[in-house]
Amino acid sequence: MKLSEYYLPTLKEEPADAHIPSHRLMLRSGMIRKLSAGVYSYLPLGYRVIKKIQSIVREEMDRKGCQELLMPAMQTSEIWKESERWEDFGPLMIRFEDRQEREYCLGPTHEEVVADLIRDEIKSYKKLPYNLYQIQTKVRDEIRPRFGLMRAREFIMKDAYSLDLDFEGLDESYQDMYEAYSRVFERCGLDTRVVEADTGAMGGKDSHEFMVLADSGEDDLAFCTECEYAANVERATADFELEESAEKAESLEKVHTPGATTIEELESMLEVDSSQMVKTMAYFADEKPVVALVRGDDQLNEVKLRNYFEAVTLRPAEAEEFSEHFGSVAGFIGPVDLKDDVEIVADRRIQNMSSAVTGANERDYHLINVEIDRDVEGLREYTDLREVKEGDSCPKCGASLEIKAGIEVGHIFKLGTKYSESMGATYLDENGSEKPIVMGSYGIGISRLAAAAIEQNHDDKGIVWPKPLAPFQVEILALGNSDEVEEEAKKLYQELQAEGVETLLDDRDERAGVKFNDAELIGIPLQVIVGSRSLSEGKVEVEFRESGEQCNIDRDGAAERLT
Ligand code: ATP
Ligand code: MG
Ligand code: MG
Ligand code: MG
Repeated sequence: MKLSEYYLPTLKEEPADAHIPSHRLMLRSGMIRKLSAGVYSYLPLGYRVIKKIQSIVREEMDRKGCQELLMPAMQTSEIWKESERWEDFGPLMIRFEDRQEREYCLGPTHEEVVADLIRDEIKSYKKLPYNLYQIQTKVRDEIRPRFGLMRAREFIMKDAYSLDLDFEGLDESYQDMYEAYSRVFERCGLDTRVVEADTGAMGGKDSHEFMVLADSGEDDLAFCTECEYAANVERATADFELEESAEKAESLEKVHTPGATTIEELESMLEVDSSQMVKTMAYFADEKPVVALVRGDDQLNEVKLRNYFEAVTLRPAEAEEFSEHFGSVAGFIGPVDLKDDVEIVADRRIQNMSSAVTGANERDYHLINVEIDRDVEGLREYTDLREVKEGDSCPKCGASLEIKAGIEVGHIFKLGTKYSESMGATYLDENGSEKPIVMGSYGIGISRLAAAAIEQNHDDKGIVWPKPLAPFQVEILALGNSDEVEEEAKKLYQELQAEGVETLLDDRDERAGVKFNDAELIGIPLQVIVGSRSLSEGKVEVEFRESGEQCNIDRDGAAERLT
């Protein structure tokens, strides 16, 4: 590409409202331009970088057998009402009506579309598993769009969705994505840290985020100074409380209850009747009864808490709604294994409380005679809990935690059956019984990644592109206005092009200083300076953007040496 013909509007002045290096440098180097708050055009130079990232992501997804498709950005409200997220998403979602006054949104994510897509097609266990992905524009009406591509309202995401027969299958798909993500970030030249993430209100169990450590990052992360524990602060707070509660729970009476599958069996093992069980295993929060929640095999799905309810039957999709009606849901009755059985639980606080209140993180054990204020003080309202801070003790090993800021570039998430259950995405297993498809979802912020790469790779003169993301590999600077220089520079440019090297030729009628400054700003890894003096000795000058190292090489054969 010849710079004289290239749409590359660089800025000499510092842009006024750009407060972090990547935003400033992307504007100054002519990579992006703002249309309105959080909405950007990717100019030719910026779009080359985006495409580099996309092709690395595609290669790594394809390597794992994922299949690329493209889903609609415009999504009908119907599917969002089925999953009960139409309300939940609130003002983050851009909504509009068509001429028939039907409601739509611009997709902030695509779990619902995927569930809709597969529910009529995948009927037999023989069809599964699949992993479907797309690279697409997402729209979220962020409350504080800022930092350019870092927190935009319209941004490019790669989102993948795994579809499995069961949770073992999901574990494998998740592991595949974990590996693919690690490779993607490594290949992009990014230094990332993986942290455990809170599963929040999305429904699901395991979740990890891939983070670029940077002062400008909007997420707080907790790292143990001794062991490998790493988590985002929400998750660390939950783990922290879990740890404290577990300690307290140790002093409580633990009763072994093997094989109990009904409330009556539990009653007899614990030598209590259900009215006592309610007292010992459930409690009041905000004057609302807090209810024991059961999940296990089908027999366990009905709990009788006689004092309060005739019968409570909880299906996964109902758990969340249920907790809204009855305050926090806490406690599990029955042989429940937190790790294996609780994927339905929509809210992590339930898991925390349950281990404190019932000891249910150990299969077939229950705690009795729990008194809430005495034994699990502070767990009443999860939202009142303070966040972990620097120096708190690690939930894993007890050493002290450090808190660092990070940028979330990727997020993987075991969804479980939340969407397949609520939207009826089921299949028939070998025995002909109907099962919900087990889902996972996996996002990479493609456009945010470009910004994060600059946060990690710049100096006071400009961007220092890691080679795999660099928009061009070589920039030729033709200095002075002699015909010979012009001709030689053009010739070298053509030779490099012929070798398949992505080359930018600064053939503008500008002073050397301007060309040097722009080259440093744009940050192409190799600069080749063609000037009359070195040409007279049959040489051109090469400068490495990253190290600043310079050397002269023979003009003859230069193109081969530079490939
Ligand atoms: P954040 O916590 O930063 O708001 P998120 O957790 O809401 O992100 P996800 O729903 O996990 O985002 O989306 C997957 C990926 O999309 C994120 O890991 C991030 O890299 C990217 N992303 C999310 N929101 C934005 C945004 N407003 N601008 C640019 N990229 C974004
Ligand atoms: Mg967000
Ligand atoms: Mg996040
Ligand atoms: Mg996320």
